[in-house]
Amino acid sequence: MWKVLTYEDKILAKKKIKRKAIRNSLFVSLFTFIFAILEDRYLGSGRIRYDPNLLSEAYPPQTWDEIASNIHMYLILSVLMGLFVYLFVTRERSVTRICISCENRDHDKLQEKCKCGENLYNLDDLSWIE
Ligand SMILES: [Zn+2]
Repeated sequence: MWKVLTYEDKILAKKKIKRKAIRNSLFVSLFTFIFAILEDRYLGSGRIRYDPNLLSEAYPPQTWDEIASNIHMYLILSVLMGLFVYLFVTRERSVTRICISCENRDHDKLQEKCKCGENLYNLDDLSWIE
């Protein structure tokens, strides 16, 4: 059955979503940073990221010195990737409203109460318990 979340529950749920978003974006940032450097070191193919003129050329692997001199490019790329994931994972509030008594989900936005007379709750304000 559905249980209506208390104010404290909602704060906790929000924090959990935020923590997850931060964790995911840090992971993606780190992964991008390492992957891009290894790609350039051993394949060379990542060069086109900062020089589109190289698109038609072969890309020789770069030396560690070359990579070190472009380290700011790797940092910018990984921060952008992390930011994208952070914004993507932090989702908007649900628009689904549910009646906790008959579990009917089919309500329009203007409707205040379910046909059975029970109040409608936003999905984000509810939690399912067995
Ligand atoms: Zn109902």
